[in-house]
Amino acid sequence: MIVEDNFKFQGRRKILAEELQKKGIVNPLIVDSIKNVPRHLFIDPGLAEQAYLDKALPIENNQTISQPFTVAFQTQLLDPKLGEKILEVGTGSGYQTAVLYYLKLNIFTIERNHNLFRTTSKLFSKLNIRPKKFVYGDGYNGLSDNSPFDGIIVTAGCPVIPKKLLSQLKIGGKMIIPVGKETQIMTKITRVGKTEFKKETFGNFKFVPMLEKKN
Ligand code: SAH
Repeated sequence: MIVEDNFKFQGRRKILAEELQKKGIVNPLIVDSIKNVPRHLFIDPGLAEQAYLDKALPIENNQTISQPFTVAFQTQLLDPKLGEKILEVGTGSGYQTAVLYYLKLNIFTIERNHNLFRTTSKLFSKLNIRPKKFVYGDGYNGLSDNSPFDGIIVTAGCPVIPKKLLSQLKIGGKMIIPVGKETQIMTKITRVGKTEFKKETFGNFKFVPMLEKKN
């Protein structure tokens, strides 16, 4: 089944964007990105009718496409500026990547699951979404060759804050990461100096776990 974009989906995206505004997404660029990125193309065509409900949905290999609010909220905490260098850990369906790409950022993104990596690579070519790099690898290592980053966004639940990722932040850069095992606390870490970090928290969320090594 081939599902393309159409007026019905565009209309639903507009309603979803308004719903997210009511829930606290105030950055107009992010609202605009939600209005424009066709989320229904990032999931199984059989689920397309549910694409614009504000909820997480299953994707391949027991993973999930994050809830639109969560994607928008993490992006808002990241507060990226035009052209900044951003590392995303946990590409998954590629939806969060697409929302960042719409904001004209230089994106480096890592996925550990090979099936998802393959499916999402093809989707990126089809939709003309061009991250600077899309890597099949373990996000716990980050991408030291391309560091430092203005921002790092982690989209899987991380039991602890990975030190290697902290070391790949620019001074003044920030990392948005859900921290915890069963449930996670959305955490924003700002690198304020070479060895100093500021930590802020933003409530509870539920993510699939960040696992070690590729598979
Ligand atoms: N941003 C994605 C979220 C997908 S769920 C979306 O909106 O679709 C989290 C993803 O993180 C999964 O695809 C999972 O395979 C991936 N992941 C888990 N541990 C990882 C690791 N160590 N490195 C890279 N990706 C990882």
